Amino acid sequence: MNLNPAEVEKIVREVFQKTQLKPAAVAAQANIPAAPAIVPATSIPERARAVVLVEKEKLEFREFPLRKIRADEILVRVESCGICGTDIHCYKNDPFNLCPVVLGHEGTGEVVAVGSDVRMDSVGKPVRPGDKIVTSTLETSTACMIAKYNPAKANLCDDLQIYGLLPDEPDNHFNGYFGEYLIIRPGSSFFVVNDMSLDLRVLIEPAAVAAHALERAKKTGLINFRSRIIVQGCGPIGLMMIAIVRTAGVNNIIAIDGNAARLETAKRMGADHAINIRDYPDRQGLIEAVGKLTKGMGAHFAFQVTGVPAAASTIWKLVRRGGGICEVGFFVDGGDCTINPHEDICKKEIMLVGSWAYNSWEYPNAYHFLQRAERIGLPVEKLITHHFSLDRIHEAFQTNIRQEGIKIIVDNPSFQSLRN
Ligand SMILES: [Zn+2]
Repeated sequence: MNLNPAEVEKIVREVFQKTQLKPAAVAAQANIPAAPAIVPATSIPERARAVVLVEKEKLEFREFPLRKIRADEILVRVESCGICGTDIHCYKNDPFNLCPVVLGHEGTGEVVAVGSDVRMDSVGKPVRPGDKIVTSTLETSTACMIAKYNPAKANLCDDLQIYGLLPDEPDNHFNGYFGEYLIIRPGSSFFVVNDMSLDLRVLIEPAAVAAHALERAKKTGLINFRSRIIVQGCGPIGLMMIAIVRTAGVNNIIAIDGNAARLETAKRMGADHAINIRDYPDRQGLIEAVGKLTKGMGAHFAFQVTGVPAAASTIWKLVRRGGGICEVGFFVDGGDCTINPHEDICKKEIMLVGSWAYNSWEYPNAYHFLQRAERIGLPVEKLITHHFSLDRIHEAFQTNIRQEGIKIIVDNPSFQSLRN
């Protein structure tokens, strides 16, 4: 009988539930390699596993010694982590030259040990074992001139660092969320978020990307409750963008994408209209479709959230004279696009802002946005379409690469809460 890993896992879980055997014993019976035993609530193991991207397209499970934390560190037991487009870029191309690296930056976990010098999180909440946390950026390099002269622009530091995109270190491999533990080092921003569901906690990082884009867009003065706003591109960030713009009070949102299922989700996230580019054979058809929804004038403002150069050209045609654009789609270089300086920029007096990642101080914003989105009935948690056990991370990555679902979450199977 040939069983795939998913079937084996299902059987093991069923047997485990029936017999209450320890996972290692069940694994031995099923003749599959055992994951380390579940950690008793109060103890910290001497060794733990992490998934290392050893080279392009090669993820390997490795077990490392889990060193004692120092007085200014925190030990976190990883609960779950989302897969981001950036993880896929690293997996396919290693654009930041990080291999070997433990990826995973959209993560959350539970504090299991707090160094004696650590008292509170980045907004002054006390931090104790058992607290649920998320992490944001690490302190930027003191040599960075941008961060030094304009701390509000620390997101533009060339040395901007976050857990899950950090170089591996000889004495600490636990610096990404695709593992069982994470060590939070001094200079990190982190937040206690006990009052949030797991699914909302893993969405805080992508919500921070969208919240930052909205902050940038607001600088143009063009965003208000009467604005007609386009969100072009309904991947996870585009959909989050729609939810956040809606939560900010905008009522006329037009979602544009080529995927009917994603456009349906866009409506649930707060879009009033959905335009499927596949319904229009050429750009002119799309321009006319937007025209019909904007009194023939084009949108007041557009968020460009695709990584496609042709789409980045088109967006200029969908915005009215005196309108604005926020470019938030190109986290990697997708190539050049064509703009007509007369038609697109001068004549329209377009206000253009770019948006790059986020600052740590925008995390509380993202957190409040998510809570308010839920309160006004936007099912943001539904952006999560898949949960995979860390043991099935290969499958999780391949599912993301096939662009199935929206947000894919990887869960640490050895996670056990101190609160139980
Ligand atoms: Zn990300």
